[in-house]
Order: sequence, then C-alpha cells, then structure tokens
Amino acid sequence: MKFADLHLHTSFSDGTWTPEELVLQGQKNGLSCLAVTDHDTVEGCARAAAACAAVNMEFIPGAELTAEHEDTELHVLGYFLDTHNEKLLAEIAKFQVVRQSRIHEMVARVNELGVPLKAESVFALANCKSPGRPHVARAMAKEGYVKNLDEAFERFLKKGRPAWVPKSKISALEAIELVHQAGGLAVMAHPGLNRTDSIIPALVAAGMDGIECFHTKHSTAMSERYLEIADKYNLLVTGGSDCHGFSKGKPLIGTVKLPYEHVQKMKARLGKGTPVSAIPAN
Ligand code: AMP
Ligand code: FE
Ligand code: FE
Ligand code: ZN
Repeated sequence: MKFADLHLHTSFSDGTWTPEELVLQGQKNGLSCLAVTDHDTVEGCARAAAACAAVNMEFIPGAELTAEHEDTELHVLGYFLDTHNEKLLAEIAKFQVVRQSRIHEMVARVNELGVPLKAESVFALANCKSPGRPHVARAMAKEGYVKNLDEAFERFLKKGRPAWVPKSKISALEAIELVHQAGGLAVMAHPGLNRTDSIIPALVAAGMDGIECFHTKHSTAMSERYLEIADKYNLLVTGGSDCHGFSKGKPLIGTVKLPYEHVQKMKARLGKGTPVSAIPAN
C-alpha cells in the first residue's frame, strides 16, 4: 500500500525543516508521495522536487493560499502547480510584500507593550519571503521574551491579542481561478478548523476540485463528514499532516497517511495518469 502526505510546510514559510530535511522525514515515515504546501509561496518546491527525485519519491508542487469568502478566512491548497506560472508568481509576490510589512507592524505593537524585539531579528530568523506569526513567536522565544511559542501566541499574537495584525487575503474565488490558470487543482484546506461549511457550495460552483478530509486536527467524525460532502459534490478527497517541522512541538509528519489512490484520482482529474474508471475504489 502506498501513502501520501499532501500538506507540508518547509523553511520557505513557517516550517522548521528545509525541503531536504522534510523529504528525509517523509522517507522515514514510509511515504511514497509528498506535496509541499507552504503559505503563499512555491519557492521551496524546486529543492523538494530534486530531493524527492534523488530518493525515488513522487513530488507534487503545491501552495497554501490565505483566502477569504464573505468575511470567512479559509486556506486554499493548490496542487500540481506550474511553479513558473507568471500570474501565480506575481499574485503571491504581492502577498509576500504584505506579509513582510505585517512583521514590522507586529513588532511595533510588541514594542509598545514593552518588548524590545527588533524586526531585523525576525527577518533574520525567518530567512524567507513569506514570514508570519510563527517567526515572530520564535524570535521572541529565542531572545527570552517568552518561554515558548504558545506563550507568544497566547499573550500577543493570536486573534484578539494586542499584537495581532490581520493578513491580506485573496478572495477564495480568485484563489481557485489562480490555481486553475497555473495548471493546478484547488482544494479547501482543513475545513473542520474554520467552521466554513456554509461556503462550500459557492466554492464548488466556482470550480473547486477537492476538499481536505484528512487532517491532523480533524476528528474521525469530521473526516467522515467531509468524505460525505466530497461524495455529494463530486470533490476529490485529500489529506495531510500540516507538519511544520518542530514549529509546534512534535513533528506531525506520518500522523496522516493518505491512501495513494486519491493522488491517482487527482491526476485523473487533471488528465494525467490513469483514468478514474481504472482506479480501484476503497
Ligand atoms: P500567519 O500565517 O502569519 O497568520 O501564521 C499562521 C501560522 O501560525 C499557522 O501555521 C498556524 O498554525 C500557526 N500557529 C497558530 N497558533 C500557533 C501556536 N500556538 N504555536 C505555534 N504556531 C501557531
Ligand atoms: Fe503555518
Ligand atoms: Fe492552513
Ligand atoms: Zn498548512
């Protein structure tokens, strides 16, 4: 039996592992196929692809786009993206610029609260174009302003706390279109986390291809619910660990193993590989 993990972060966004380290961990956990889905960037994909090729593992270039629909935040996963697609690169570059200015805003807010953190320390630690709150939290912990990342989020960074700064988001319908024009499949990430079920029909109408039924934070009941929704709307079923390396304590890779037939169905939908009729049902 072959398994995939289709939700993974690297040091090109807020994961702590380089693409090469991630691939090594994928191998150790018995995975045959990996997708890198960094937040608002595809920069890590080239190195992950090379590392996968070296160990004969299948690689799917992806991204996790921060999106919104009618004031609800959701994450749109893109798979099988052309990582050189100009429109995709231009759009995500805009988000990266905003992410960088958001770091300055968050640092200014924690400074007002008496924490002398410097934006330069956050950028040095992040060392990527798509920095986020976990980098601010890590820099604060590294410099001893908080005990750990949880304390940084609880006291300063989570929604409603004084240093929380909203992110700019692409409209979910535009995100789906952006993924499609880059040759990819658009999938709704961890629907169980955001209480976003009411917007599913609108996303399906906009051409969304799949839904992430299996995710570390989904209970069995949630996964079953989303499998039913996938069935109802004829959506692809995906899943992944959402591993960020050591960012949130214990690495999550290996905790969600998606049966490979779902990857085959994704490829069939794109017109690559085996037709759906030839893929055995589970
Ligand atoms: P951002 O995209 O900058 O808003 O940051 C979101 C990231 O922060 C996501 O990957 C979250 O999973 C992560 N995150 C949220 N809460 C925590 C926490 N308590 N500890 C570590 N990471 C967290
Ligand atoms: Fe993240
Ligand atoms: Fe997410
Ligand atoms: Zn993620």
